[in-house]
Amino acid sequence: MTDEKYLQIEPLLNTLKSNGRSYDFEKIKEAFVYAKELHEGQMRLSGEPYIMHPISVAEIVASLGLDTDSVCAAFLHDTVEDCPDKTNLDEITRIFGADVALLVDGVTKIKSINVEDKEEAQIESIRKMLLAMSKDIRVIFIKLCDRVHNMRTLYVKKDAKRRATALETMHVYAPLAHRLGMQKIKQELETYALQYLDPIGYNEIKAHIEEKYGRNVNFIENLQTNVTDELAKTSINFTLSGRVKTVYSVYRKMYNQNKSFDEIYDFYALRIIVDTELECYTVLGLIHEMYKSVPGRFKDYISTPKPNMYQSLHTTVIGKDGIPFEVQIRTREMHQIAEYGIAAHWKYKSGEKSTADIDTKLDWISKLIATEEEAIDPEDFMHAFKIDIFHDETFVFTPKGDVIALPLGSTLIDFAYKIHTGVGNKMVGGKINGRIAPIDSVPQNGNIVEIITSNASKGPSRDWLSIVKTGEARNKIRQWFKKEKRAENIVVGKSVIDKEFSYLRSLSEDDRTAIISTVAKRIGMTDADDLYNALGYGGASISKIEKKIRDEYDKQYKEKDVKEASPAVIEPTIAPTKKKYKSTGGVIIDGEEGCVVKFAKCCNPLPGEDIVGFITKGYGISIHKLDCPNVQAAFSNEEYVTRFVKAEWDTPSSSSYRAAYETSLQILVTNRISMLAEISGALADMKIDIVSLSTKNVEDTTLFNMTIACRDVSHFNSIISRLKSIKDVIRVTRTMGTR
Ligand code: MN
Repeated sequence: MTDEKYLQIEPLLNTLKSNGRSYDFEKIKEAFVYAKELHEGQMRLSGEPYIMHPISVAEIVASLGLDTDSVCAAFLHDTVEDCPDKTNLDEITRIFGADVALLVDGVTKIKSINVEDKEEAQIESIRKMLLAMSKDIRVIFIKLCDRVHNMRTLYVKKDAKRRATALETMHVYAPLAHRLGMQKIKQELETYALQYLDPIGYNEIKAHIEEKYGRNVNFIENLQTNVTDELAKTSINFTLSGRVKTVYSVYRKMYNQNKSFDEIYDFYALRIIVDTELECYTVLGLIHEMYKSVPGRFKDYISTPKPNMYQSLHTTVIGKDGIPFEVQIRTREMHQIAEYGIAAHWKYKSGEKSTADIDTKLDWISKLIATEEEAIDPEDFMHAFKIDIFHDETFVFTPKGDVIALPLGSTLIDFAYKIHTGVGNKMVGGKINGRIAPIDSVPQNGNIVEIITSNASKGPSRDWLSIVKTGEARNKIRQWFKKEKRAENIVVGKSVIDKEFSYLRSLSEDDRTAIISTVAKRIGMTDADDLYNALGYGGASISKIEKKIRDEYDKQYKEKDVKEASPAVIEPTIAPTKKKYKSTGGVIIDGEEGCVVKFAKCCNPLPGEDIVGFITKGYGISIHKLDCPNVQAAFSNEEYVTRFVKAEWDTPSSSSYRAAYETSLQILVTNRISMLAEISGALADMKIDIVSLSTKNVEDTTLFNMTIACRDVSHFNSIISRLKSIKDVIRVTRTMGTR
């Protein structure tokens, strides 16, 4: 390695050699030489040759222990953008392979983001977008290293630029590093950012620290000596280091947690790294023998790791002069994770993307579900990573640079309605990255999307309803038709009725209107035109009114004769007959042979509950719960009472004893992102099928209406109690159907 050409990257090569992984040194050197030639003649603002920047970034990347391709990409990360006449992605692919090109492209695409006037939610979207845009997490690692070096050299920039970069670092990149568990990078980013964002606060705390602890300059050294002497008496193989809390973490503790300077107990810390978990606890015992411990400050993150996988023992003890200090004890492996987080875990096998990789990801995410000490909303982060894996959302920019999140597969029309209803309704076209695109185009992550509107627009087209992906857009389009096109909708609605219900054709216009009008009123509308209109704009569906129209028709035209023929019986008792017959559905009906049984939707009876059969006209026997309100009402109706038959549950044979009975329930929960996942997870655990599901948000609660299939009433009760045991579930109730 004495070749003069590589003198500049000698330290980096040594770092790589010492970290125990295998590297393609020839490829790394080639990337360095290539980048150096391309950046030849370019200067940084500081006056240094430009190549110093990629070298520094590559050094930081190397210190994280990343692979050959990442180091190469670090050298090349600014070439495509800064030297467009000398190279491009195809060139990089040809020389260094598709993986390196992908990384370079990913880093190039992450543009600087103006976070100045953005709200918390927007910034969260930006972080998610960055993760989603980077199909390979190494892109984020390299970008973070790039940012570290830019922060180290930020002093050369102009004031306004400094502030913008520092703000973006504090709001976007430091939290990203934190969430990836990359402690060192996070601390460096925060320290630099704070210096530019609040120089007064930074200096005040710095001075405070120096004033209070300045006279104890040797405090940490003395501690180290004392503890080292004590540990040396044992056979434990250990590494010991001392640290002083960073200005930013003191700053944040003081400002966010509203603490005084004296309430910061972990300003000084000793870190003891040992070989085994058992030794961690042994060392802890020794420390507690040497120093008096501060009550309530012991934390065992070994048995209960933090969501970002951090493991360690923490305790706070009082040293000489009454100065408290924290002791952190962990194994070497735990230390790797603490310092480099996910980067320490990411193993890249060249080219192969196995499902095992995905499993590792998922495993890691599942650890994030637990709540973190600093309350950074792990659910949000979990969600962000789901995007990375499942890609269920697309993030696009408005021309102004705002980030809009859309469900995957959303079209330009969805985007337009997401921006504003008025934009959607006046939309005549759209552009993606400045180019005219068809309105049904699906924009990709990071695209800049623009909607062309015109006051001459005649409004949305009915076809859009089948193009749009989001319910939001669909509803808004329907609303428009409801409002603007009533006459047209009524014509459409009438023809729909005409087509679907041929039996109505024999009726006169007035009779037909009477039926439709009655049905309309039953579903809360004013008149028949309302219902026609709703059918026309899509606010009501045929399937919902089908049965109601049939019933109404039967009632008026079919049942008239039957009514007169029915003898009046007042007693609601049902006489048992001698013969019992097995029917379908696991029900035994008295005196009726081979009849078709169906379970009433109004009460969804379950095996184990008292039931009764009702002989319908032409639809077999419907089984109701005995206490079903409809049944109770019918008992006092002389016309119906004779049509009841005794019914009971058959004793099931083990083979047919399966979850086959549908029942509806309602779950009220406090809003939390993973709530539905937890509920469906609990049901999946119990092997319960969800037949249908709808949700409704009411302020900070959500109401889930679902139909599930279960075995019997005791099975159902066990499901209810399991659901009630889920955190933030307020109420679980069995519900009656709609009819
Ligand atoms: Mn750069």
